[in-house]
Amino acid sequence: MLTGRKKAIETVINREAVKPQLVGNRVPEYYGTNVFTEKVMREYLSEGAFKAIKEATRVGHKINREIADEIAASMKAWALKKGANSYTHWFQPLNGLTAEKHDMFFTLKGDEPIEAFGADALVQQEPDASSFPSGGIRATFEARGYTAWDPASPAFIMEIGEGKTLCIPTIFVSYTGEALDYKAPLLKSISFLEKAALPVVHLFDKDATKISVTLGWEQEYFLIDEALFYARPDLMATGRTLLGASSSKGQQLEDHYFGTIPERIYAFMLDLETECHKLGIPVRTRHNEVAPSQFECAPMFEEANVAVDHNQLLMDLMERVSRRHKLRVLIHEKPFAGINGSGKHNNWSLSTDTGKNLLSPGKTPKTNLLFLTFFVNVLKAVSEYGDLIRASIASANNDHRLGANEAPPAIISAFIGSYMTNILDEVEKRVAKGKYDELANASLKLDILNKVPDLLLDTTDRNRTSPFAFTGNKFEIRAVGSSANCASIMTVMNAIMGQQLLNFKAEVDKLIKEGESKEGAIMRRIRQYITDSRKICFEGDGYSAAWEKEAKKRGLSNVKTTPYALDFLIQQKFIDVFTQNGILSERESFARYEVENHKYVLKIDIEANTLTDIAISQIIPAALEYSNKLVSNIQGLKAVGISASATKAQKELLEEISTTVNAIKTNVDKLNKSLEDAHKQKSTADEAKFYCDKVKPIMDVLRVELDALESLVDDTIWPLPKYREMLFIK
Ligand code: ADP
Ligand code: MG
Repeated sequence: MLTGRKKAIETVINREAVKPQLVGNRVPEYYGTNVFTEKVMREYLSEGAFKAIKEATRVGHKINREIADEIAASMKAWALKKGANSYTHWFQPLNGLTAEKHDMFFTLKGDEPIEAFGADALVQQEPDASSFPSGGIRATFEARGYTAWDPASPAFIMEIGEGKTLCIPTIFVSYTGEALDYKAPLLKSISFLEKAALPVVHLFDKDATKISVTLGWEQEYFLIDEALFYARPDLMATGRTLLGASSSKGQQLEDHYFGTIPERIYAFMLDLETECHKLGIPVRTRHNEVAPSQFECAPMFEEANVAVDHNQLLMDLMERVSRRHKLRVLIHEKPFAGINGSGKHNNWSLSTDTGKNLLSPGKTPKTNLLFLTFFVNVLKAVSEYGDLIRASIASANNDHRLGANEAPPAIISAFIGSYMTNILDEVEKRVAKGKYDELANASLKLDILNKVPDLLLDTTDRNRTSPFAFTGNKFEIRAVGSSANCASIMTVMNAIMGQQLLNFKAEVDKLIKEGESKEGAIMRRIRQYITDSRKICFEGDGYSAAWEKEAKKRGLSNVKTTPYALDFLIQQKFIDVFTQNGILSERESFARYEVENHKYVLKIDIEANTLTDIAISQIIPAALEYSNKLVSNIQGLKAVGISASATKAQKELLEEISTTVNAIKTNVDKLNKSLEDAHKQKSTADEAKFYCDKVKPIMDVLRVELDALESLVDDTIWPLPKYREMLFIK
């Protein structure tokens, strides 16, 4: 019998690389051709409408009705010229994916067919909200939710095969105005932080009129052949392998990292890059990652809201482009046990419209004081709100990585490098706690603030074990999972940094009012924040047991599983930082808590059911088939008079397999029983904890038994593609 596995392997071996569909050799020739860019707008819009939309691309600005009509007309003209025949509001619901609902431009006016698209269609749509997670905000009797145009993100044309659709980035809110997506709070957090940062920048630079939040993400992913993917029900249903013995060759040799890229993969990457560039996603970097069949792609950084859209679009494009190449992309945080999983580093910074990166050291003591101010305020914000950061990166998938010695631990700390550590030490030592004496501290400025630029030379000293690292001109948040929507962590960073800057400005103003000089007030607050932030500063090995112990002494949380990390979301201090700054209402925070717990429950439930299904319907039958072979072999040998002692090995194997099969069946029953109990829990949060504490451990035991069978049973009978096949056949 030809099993699915064997057929799949044959298919893969005979596969040829699919030729990439290149549009040209030079990126500038086609970059952004599917985007309603400023250049296009200039061509299609009146001066007034162009200015209005330019204003509105600054997060938080509004557009009036007449202008919206004109913009809609020009978008339609552009889209029709590009060959699009439909449009959709494009949004980012809390299920973590992107969503679309297409409408055609075509309509009937009387009985005359026309193509229409006006302000109404541009500004608002009403998708049926009932099938998206809302955390109880949207009662079933009030299923209405609506999407509202976000002019801060450019519209674009998505090409799927021959079809072309105009996509309008939107936010998604309930009928009562509560956010049902990742994007609305992100936009609010950006405008809040920009407003909070400007007065602080004005302490140093009066010319700046706008602050921007910047984000550069790095997306890790796996690629495996489509035929092997389809032969694995666990990959299809859950995005990860729920069982599978480790391949004897894993990533020990580290020979994959930065190695040559195989031809089929390279063709995929070229196509992906072309699609990205047409959509104005500035991807630039591609390389192999540490694990076999793992890769990374990264763009140039952009304003955070646009970068978030682009990352969501990228994940969508990866999925489609991979199919064209008969590959499947795995964006799951942990597709394979025993080798590294995938993350998504978020590089985050702030900059001014005068061209200054606020987390990049300057050339003079004055600009360096500006840098130091923002730098230390980031540390203070993280030390106050580290638990909220932990909660915002929590997911069932990410639990497999955090603290598993391949990604940062679940402890939120900051790595700043030896140079910045020295500077902080000096400031703390030399700025007196009492009144600031400018004369006495003149040398500090000369010695310390003059020297900061040298630090740029020191950024090679990277500590990969830290969840939050200063890398010379930005902070790199490394604990984010590969499938996460970056908006979640970005919203938290913006909110806590904004809150911290408000506190800082108020405290500085108070000191100035009491007679302190401006510089003295700033230095004294910085000094205090350095002291306050010591507990999160850690330069050592984040994977070590010693750090866990030390972190505990420092009072840092070390919450390893999602349902417990999510509890931070509803602590008053963390609810407050959102409500007080207009980012999420209390109700919205509770709704998100509910949604995230529910997602956890669903994920583990699907995994558990898939695992029992595979165990009973695929693995046990294979084990029995092989047992029967052993039985006939033993009987046959006996029949021809071979002594009992000569069939010892067969009997031992048979015994081992039977025992394991029994253990598997027992644990499947146990698992099913615990799934029933899970549904009896009082709240979603309790249910999530039940899945975490009671259901998952049974799955872990079951997996060990299933994997043990894999190395006992005849390879030609084993039904599922093995790790070595998925990871190494290309
Ligand atoms: P790594 O060694 O981590 O791969 P890179 O130099 O490749 O570091 O940069 C990683 C990411 O940092 C890129 O996506 C880049 O766009 C981003 N980045 C650089 N400067 C900034 C900034 N000021 N703000 C946000 N992201 C930035
Ligand atoms: Mg990085």
